[in-house]
Amino acid sequence: MSVKNVHPITCRLIDWYSEHKRELPWRETKDPYRIWISEVILQQTRIDQGRAYYHRFIDQFPDVRTLAAASEEEVLKVWQGLGYYSRARNLHQAARQIVSSHNGQLPSSYSGLIALKGVGAYTAAAIASIAFGQPHAVVDGNVYRLLTRLFAIETPVDTPAGKKATAEIAQSLLPEEDPGEYNQAIMDFGSQICRPTQPRCSDCVLQAYCQAFAANAVSAYPVKIRKTKIRKRYFHYFHILHGDRTYLQKRDRSDIWKNLYEFPLIETEQDADFAQLEQSSTFRQLFSNLPTLQIDPPLMLRHQLTHQLIHTRFYRVTIPEEAPFTPPGEILSILQEALPVYPVSRLTHKYLETI
Ligand code: SF4
Repeated sequence: MSVKNVHPITCRLIDWYSEHKRELPWRETKDPYRIWISEVILQQTRIDQGRAYYHRFIDQFPDVRTLAAASEEEVLKVWQGLGYYSRARNLHQAARQIVSSHNGQLPSSYSGLIALKGVGAYTAAAIASIAFGQPHAVVDGNVYRLLTRLFAIETPVDTPAGKKATAEIAQSLLPEEDPGEYNQAIMDFGSQICRPTQPRCSDCVLQAYCQAFAANAVSAYPVKIRKTKIRKRYFHYFHILHGDRTYLQKRDRSDIWKNLYEFPLIETEQDADFAQLEQSSTFRQLFSNLPTLQIDPPLMLRHQLTHQLIHTRFYRVTIPEEAPFTPPGEILSILQEALPVYPVSRLTHKYLETI
């Protein structure tokens, strides 16, 4: 492609995309609802995993009104295993906003889109450009990386000034014709060619324009000032079996996994073994007055979130059927066979897959 007034980088990206574009279900449609769902699913998710969840989500909630009419628990259940559950809660709340304030139609303007619950600059630009052909450049992690390398941007990308500088360049490269297609091209190019590690510079159609490559300094970009601080947490779950019953509680605090279900939990500041847990008031409250408990060696899992590393032990505890067991009020007694109905975190999902 070579068009007057279109930057040569833009032309090359569009040419590259026309040859390497991957066939994906959300690329076959201009339906803003489906594009919105795909964009939210794909944040922090690999395409292969995202594709399966996209089909599952659209099968269950084919349009805004169906999503708005569902319960939050139904939405979380479909999302189970994908992580970052606030995305599902926000989708659900935004669907209700769209029904109540926009007659069930997604707004076509960037300002209308960004006013929806959970829709940030990236998602608003993606929907506005891909579904409605509007001139808004997307800037996701792939675009930040590519542009900071191409233009050797020294201002750290994790500062407002660095974000602004990169966003201005992205907007200046946006073509008037089909900005949505171009936006998808630049993101795909960033993820497939200008990768975070081992970028494929020798295959890169932008190599001649790349200032980082010319300076033999590709690994120096993007410049960042902050390193992500990871908080360590220690979770000890009790999968209690009592006859045909098991026990769950709902996370209702303002913390990770809000409104999802989990087994009774003791969280400790440091790692703790079983003897230490037995001394805790939560343990005594949970298992008081029980003469015998059969406790299996714990299954240990590590679970990484963006800012947290969760060291987990899952204890399987069997209480004799004849022993009366009355857990504290916030704990639900359910039939074991009903366990798959409840939305749970990816961590609990991983554990359940092992039993
Ligand atoms: Fe990225 Fe390398 Fe291409 Fe530069 S030459 S844009 S660093 S892949």
